Amino acid sequence: MTTINPFESALKQLEKAAKLVNLDPKINEILRHPEHIVQVAVPVIMDDGALKVFEGYRVQHNSARGPYKGGLRFHPQTDLNEVKALAAWMTWKCAVVGIPYGGGKGGITIDSKKLSPAELERLSRSFARAIAPFIGPTVDVPAPDVYTTPQIMAWIADEYGKVTGKPSPAVITGKPLEAGGSQGRDTATAQGGFYVLSGFMQKMNWQPAQMKVAIQGYGNAGSVMAQLLHAAGYKIVAVSDSKGALLDTTSAGMNPAHLAKTKKEKTFAGGEYWNGSVYVREGYKTITNAELLEADVDILVPAALENQITGDNAERIKAKIVLELANGPTTPEGDEILARRQITVLPDILANAGGVTVSYFEWDQNMKGETWDKAQVFTKLEKIMNDAFAAVYAAKEKYNTDMRTAAYISALERLSQAINKKYGW
Ligand code: GLU
Repeated sequence: MTTINPFESALKQLEKAAKLVNLDPKINEILRHPEHIVQVAVPVIMDDGALKVFEGYRVQHNSARGPYKGGLRFHPQTDLNEVKALAAWMTWKCAVVGIPYGGGKGGITIDSKKLSPAELERLSRSFARAIAPFIGPTVDVPAPDVYTTPQIMAWIADEYGKVTGKPSPAVITGKPLEAGGSQGRDTATAQGGFYVLSGFMQKMNWQPAQMKVAIQGYGNAGSVMAQLLHAAGYKIVAVSDSKGALLDTTSAGMNPAHLAKTKKEKTFAGGEYWNGSVYVREGYKTITNAELLEADVDILVPAALENQITGDNAERIKAKIVLELANGPTTPEGDEILARRQITVLPDILANAGGVTVSYFEWDQNMKGETWDKAQVFTKLEKIMNDAFAAVYAAKEKYNTDMRTAAYISALERLSQAINKKYGW
């Protein structure tokens, strides 16, 4: 399999929408280039006393609509092209849901699972010091992403406060509640995706009980999505994490509460144990990640990394809906095949925008010194997601295109206005 550069994919997606709406070439050209690329050295004293220096990045893609916004990823595969793509996707994402931010993303190339808690804290604080000159509540506001947690956000906020001499919780979102986080931020990505899926299900007049679901990735987005779908009557029949995948051949549907509990506690509970591919229960079968993607389901939820549905496997995807909770899970070649096969992709920049939307609520509360309750947060989130879904669906009908291109079109309307205003064209 050839390696796919995710930034090239992001540009191809932009190109497709730009052609369809006859986008002003000036806007197109601006959006093809990140405004700033920051690369930093992240020195960490390891537990054995040795010093290691890791590569860190922060890409600030576009700020025409507001401060740069987007997560920080700690992952061994993280590199500059990945971070550039993720930053660009944040620009479109914030525009799709109409929150007043541009797009940014950061990360460190590291296998953070191998670090001790103390090393992880030193790494996070070192990264905070390295990027402190480039971020700030009205400049660039990071957040969690793959393998970064509320605790890591709290360390970064604290370190930023020390460097600048004043506490600024609004410099980063996704913090724990006690460090200025928002109610609902932890479940927001999945919740937003759930609203988008519900909107589409209504359009198709499909019922949850008819739908079998496979979820790839069991982190914050995937595991919460499993709970929401299960509670709404969908049948979860396959799940995976970085270690392996499981298929329920009984078609009874898995109970995410059991999966989460047994995965977390890493102990047998009621005869069940899931640690990656190990799950002891009659009727459950361990499968490969590739088999999970091609499982006989109605809805496939990629909730892990980029480049999962490609020109190599899109022909074999059986789902009717691909709900992208991950960023960039489908390549342009994959998209083309899925579109031809009339499989609907509910695209990342719409489907996973609930996370950054509640990040915006968190930032807004921090800036105003307010605290909102969960009901307030979810009422606002639901409205934003439903409005965004309606706008994207309308663009899809108007231009007779797929949902991803429609989401780009919807984003580009807002971005064009802001870019024109910024440059005075
Ligand atoms: N990392 C998340 C995303 O890709 C959240 C970003 C944020 O909350 O700023 O959308």
